Amino acid sequence: MADQVYDLIVIGAGPGGYVAAIRAAQLGFSVAVVEKRATLGGVCLNEGCIPSKALLDSSEYFALARDDFARHGIMIDPPLLDLEQMLKRKDDVVKRLTDGVAYLFKKHRIVHIPGVAKLGGARSDGLQTVPVTMPDSPAIPRVLLGKKVLLATGSQAMELPGIPFDGQLVVSAREALAFDQVPEQLLVVGAGYVGLELGSVWRRLGSQVTVVEAMTKPLPATDGQVTDVIIKALKKQGLTFMLEATVTRIAPENGRAVVTISSAEAVRELIFDKVLVATGRQPLTAGLGLPQIGVTQDDRGRIVVDANYQTTVTGIYALGDLIPGPMLAHKAMEEGVAFAERLAGQAAEVDYAYIPGVVYTWPEAAGVGKTEEQLREASTPYSVGRSNFLGNGRARCLGETEGFVKVLAHAQTGRLLGVHIVGARASELIGEAVTAMSFGGTAADLGLTIHAHPTLSEAIKEAALDVNKQAIHG
Ligand code: FAD
Repeated sequence: MADQVYDLIVIGAGPGGYVAAIRAAQLGFSVAVVEKRATLGGVCLNEGCIPSKALLDSSEYFALARDDFARHGIMIDPPLLDLEQMLKRKDDVVKRLTDGVAYLFKKHRIVHIPGVAKLGGARSDGLQTVPVTMPDSPAIPRVLLGKKVLLATGSQAMELPGIPFDGQLVVSAREALAFDQVPEQLLVVGAGYVGLELGSVWRRLGSQVTVVEAMTKPLPATDGQVTDVIIKALKKQGLTFMLEATVTRIAPENGRAVVTISSAEAVRELIFDKVLVATGRQPLTAGLGLPQIGVTQDDRGRIVVDANYQTTVTGIYALGDLIPGPMLAHKAMEEGVAFAERLAGQAAEVDYAYIPGVVYTWPEAAGVGKTEEQLREASTPYSVGRSNFLGNGRARCLGETEGFVKVLAHAQTGRLLGVHIVGARASELIGEAVTAMSFGGTAADLGLTIHAHPTLSEAIKEAALDVNKQAIHG
């Protein structure tokens, strides 16, 4: 019997790979997906977006019950933490979603092949070979044949120079999503969104959290005024920040970590129970055989692709965290759809200018488009509209009045250039701004749109009206 030839072989079942596979199957391609971990969904579903948000939501309820309910007139005994149950619930959430991807694969007749794949190169008939090391027969790789291969192997956490992860004391987000005890003293290295989100989780559950950041400010890509609100709120919640400081040494001592932290002013030694290193992620390409077949990577290890997501080798494609752009699940998913549709000859495109970014701290921060800093640097003429949640009825009812919406519009055309929100449920609110901007909307368009009252979203309308100094409640 002749070997099965797939139209498309996808390596990696994260948000980029699984979405590309489903869309390709919808378009009539025969698809196989090779995934090395036991469950589908990649980093996002297994050890990223989903488990972190499950713990953020649970820890938020806990902190509300402990610190906030009395304000609403709800008197309860101090709530008790059942960490085991909280972690179990998080694992259940993950399982339901990863099972959901497996169901979708079945529904779309996508063949799931468990194992570690690499590129074997093209045969003389042009078919791509993909040797897969299977868990049940590791000695003899099974060689898959495909007309096209999509690399979607994602990324991995970066280690501190000379300080490897040990999975116990010095850990990545993967382990920090599953500490079986609340660490008394937690050090977070890196004040990006992963560090601030997981630092928030453990702070709410009782840890003393110190955040060390090499830059002058956390969240460097975020609008400066938004960052200021986030930092003020996190400090109020009890997180300690050490900015312009770096971790230069970690030595284990009696089950704890003795950490050397250096800054311009001093070199300090502090002791922590756990050290979460969240200084960034790098494309996961080791073992794929890229140099052997001539796939080009840039100086940061990212795979170079063209508008069709094709690499420098014909028939080999890449997307998601492997290629340039923000390392975000929704970016990877959009690329998955665009890749499959372009493979089918359609004119799909990802609008990279309008990829929202969210920080799920409390309050949340969300933004899309340009920041004020970027507009100033580019000398783009712009007008600003702002509405504070302090004046928003729903925010008052919720007791969540921290933060604001800021709308940036072109000074001459009124076209929306950026929207930045810090406040309760900013992650949900930003969708409206993304839609308006994707349709080429102006601040006036947002201002003319009827928003239900009382809702947090009214702050978007008010901020848009404020661009032309027409806000009613501002
Ligand atoms: P991945 O999700 O990394 O998937 C790649 C898959 O390929 C993995 O399952 C891996 O096992 C598999 N693989 C690798 N090599 C091989 C091989 N040789 N053979 C077979 N299989 C292989 N993004 C957001 O948008 N929102 C968030 O809230 C968010 N929160 C995050 C929180 C944390 C703690 C972390 C770490 C990340 C978070 N992210 C978030 C980022 C998001 O997870 C990634 O951007 C996204 O998962 C990238 O998708 P991907 O498909 O490119 O790769």
